[in-house]
Amino acid sequence: MPAPASDAPAASRFKCGLRRNGSMTGMLLKVLPRKLRLRLREKQLVRDAAARNEGFSCRALAGESDYNICINSDLTVSCNCQDFDGSGQIGSLKSQSLAEIFAGPIANGFRKTLAARSFPTPTCASCADLRIVPVEEATRGLTSYRVPYKGIMVENTVLCNLRCRMCNRKELLQLRSQQVTMPLADVEKVALLLKEHQVQSLLFFNLGEPFLPPDVDKQLQVIRKHNPDIRIVTSSNGQLLDESRKIEAALMTDYIYVSLDGATQDAVSRYQVGADFDRGYRNIRNLVSERDSLGSKTPIVEWKYVVFRWNDRPDQIRKAIELAREAKVDVIGFYRGDGPLGDRSLRWYYHSIFKTLGDRVPGGIVVNLNNIPQHLLAP
Ligand code: SF4
Ligand code: SF4
Repeated sequence: MPAPASDAPAASRFKCGLRRNGSMTGMLLKVLPRKLRLRLREKQLVRDAAARNEGFSCRALAGESDYNICINSDLTVSCNCQDFDGSGQIGSLKSQSLAEIFAGPIANGFRKTLAARSFPTPTCASCADLRIVPVEEATRGLTSYRVPYKGIMVENTVLCNLRCRMCNRKELLQLRSQQVTMPLADVEKVALLLKEHQVQSLLFFNLGEPFLPPDVDKQLQVIRKHNPDIRIVTSSNGQLLDESRKIEAALMTDYIYVSLDGATQDAVSRYQVGADFDRGYRNIRNLVSERDSLGSKTPIVEWKYVVFRWNDRPDQIRKAIELAREAKVDVIGFYRGDGPLGDRSLRWYYHSIFKTLGDRVPGGIVVNLNNIPQHLLAP
């Protein structure tokens, strides 16, 4: 499951923050609609860079990102995981290799635009991989890059079983109209590419529900066959994890986020339209239990709770933590929800519960219920 919605669902943990600040301007920017926020932030960043006589560079286009290069379901490749309108597409594996895409005219154009202190796509303004660097370093970035090896995101499908508010399903389906789900042959092609470049980490999700394809178990088998040691991180809405093939697939991963934005049906269905709280919770619990019965420590299971105005009361947060403990999940993570102003949680900014709950991570707070070592928490 992904998170088009935003800064909300899954991607919140993966997105960004160039010099986030706690200033009043920073706080105000956070509560504006996404498009406006990106525009204002772009202006601010360009101004900052100009004042310092510096340029921009991109860690993802240098091949050094932990996750941000995304292979989409139609084999197009986006430079970032929030590419909701396709403006971040830099090529396609249908006709190019990853090395060709990285050395190709679009990627090079992006690098040049950044070095010239401008943005090739609006997403740059909120991207974790954007850097303000001395001009010499920005210029060096034009020729100094490599194919990514730390982590790559793979969207096996853009289809989803839910209709979350803010998740623009229609636009996403149009964007991927050539191929909404990867056939197994394409998954194998991607698996071989991961092997060729010795990629260390696979983020197996993007803008759809990864456990929706009936052959997701075969997809993960083929990835594992070619990449036995790769770290696989996935993110699901959890609703489908009660079919044996889907559970088997989930058990092949190393880390799984299961999104359930509340501790009751009422709270969950306000954002995750079509979700069933009892089913999601039961599936989280059963997944942990299946894993434990195999004597395995993976996948590490994180209950992902996106905080909005309607699910941010201290009693709701405490109830979710209590249920997470009962289900023996390893971690429960609370992430700031995005969307219209009226949907945002104000308590997130001022209430003491969010200041003392757990450890801060990008976009959220995690409560580590099973003493999972810090280095295994973040993908
Ligand atoms: S959105 Fe911009 S900064 Fe982020 S990966 Fe793409 S080009 Fe780089
Ligand atoms: S509708 Fe599906 S893809 Fe969109 S945010 Fe919800 S679970 Fe994720």
